[in-house]
Amino acid sequence: MFEGLSDRLSGILSGLTRRGALTEADVTAAMREVRRALLEADVALEVVRGFTDRVREKAVGAVVLKSVTPGQMVVKIVNDELVAMLGTEAETVDLNAPAPVPILMVGLQGSGKTTTTAKIARRLSEREKRKVLLASLDTRRPAAMEQLAVLAQQVGVESLPIVAGQSAVQIAKRAMDAARFGGFDVVMLDTAGRTTVDEALMAEAAEVKAATNPHEVLLVADALTGQDAVNTARAFDQRLGVTGIVLTRMDGDSRGGAALSMRAVTGKPIKLVGVGEKVDALEEFHPSRVANRILGMGDIVSLVEKAAETIDAEQAMRTAEKMRRGKFDLEDLSMQLAQMEKMGGIGGLMGMLPGMGQIKKQVEGANLDEKMFKRQRAIISSMTPQERKNPDLLKNSRKKRIAAGSGVKVEEINKLLKMHRTMADLMKAMGSGKRGIGQALGSM
Ligand code: GDP
Repeated sequence: MFEGLSDRLSGILSGLTRRGALTEADVTAAMREVRRALLEADVALEVVRGFTDRVREKAVGAVVLKSVTPGQMVVKIVNDELVAMLGTEAETVDLNAPAPVPILMVGLQGSGKTTTTAKIARRLSEREKRKVLLASLDTRRPAAMEQLAVLAQQVGVESLPIVAGQSAVQIAKRAMDAARFGGFDVVMLDTAGRTTVDEALMAEAAEVKAATNPHEVLLVADALTGQDAVNTARAFDQRLGVTGIVLTRMDGDSRGGAALSMRAVTGKPIKLVGVGEKVDALEEFHPSRVANRILGMGDIVSLVEKAAETIDAEQAMRTAEKMRRGKFDLEDLSMQLAQMEKMGGIGGLMGMLPGMGQIKKQVEGANLDEKMFKRQRAIISSMTPQERKNPDLLKNSRKKRIAAGSGVKVEEINKLLKMHRTMADLMKAMGSGKRGIGQALGSM
């Protein structure tokens, strides 16, 4: 499962990680390929569309962290969106209700419902030490009732004695009574399946639900049926209010579409997955682990996570230290401008910073808008590293060169330098605590 998709996605993404820089066009082209790969894996169209749109939007707007490449950032974004698509947190069968907790098992015939009922019973009994009672409600297929009884014995839990001639609701009520009387913790009700979703099947399950008020309604669906599994889940959910999904045959060579679309389409979590015919072939569904298995790029993801954790703290400390020592240079100013631009709109931000309103007034004629910040950053990027560190180097000939390089007039460079000087002085004053802000501004 997921092999084909995994190969495709890692091919597309390692193409991106190898490059030094990425353009919006690169990301768009890669997303086109990701889209095709997901569709070929049988992921629902609506889910694919939302997925690639969100990745593209985030990738284009992302600020690339130091020490990782843009391609690695894209891998991280794709990973996070995959995890979100799969449901983010792992969820398991919830038994948080007064005993005996009724669990209703629903699904199509052949989906693996009876086997899964036994697998879950085994898990609850062995791992969580719960006393579990199994009951088959499949009144039309005596063989199914026998099958559940055999499986119950195999996994070491009890099953309700079979009484011929009872309706599904009667059996369900008998099971609840027996469980109360016998001190059981959990009652699993294995409803009858049909080969297709039909009204009689739904009506019977709805009646049982009304009679027993189950704490969980688990839908069992076959991963090999791809989008049909998702449509089945939707139909059952609309009629019965499903609380969780168990996807079976995840050990088969399904393309993965059901597992990938299920959560996004139905809004219901995949709680467990069946990975074989044996009674212990049942696993929890962890979105982050599944995403990792699909992308196979866990090391890049953790690299970016680590970079993101350290970068903010590092940068803030460096800037604070420079401010304290009055060493706020043009490089720092450029970074601050980029930060302001990222925060969108400077108007509100200026109003919030002490002293900024003053600067705004005093830097005469300055049009403090985002365009100006962009131009100012362009000016700074036309300077040499030495000039950025030491603005005093900027005499007329250098200013002319920078003006030509960034397409502005020398006047504008002077304005930028004045603004930097003011900010640097202000910061030094605040850092040393020797002079007030008013005094620093007064010296402009
Ligand atoms: P039901 O009609 O929905 O109750 O289906 P069953 O529980 O009788 O299962 C039908 C077949 O699918 C049986 O042969 C099971 O062993 C098999 N089966 C169930 N779950 C899985 C699974 O996760 N993987 C594989 N490979 N086979 C499974």
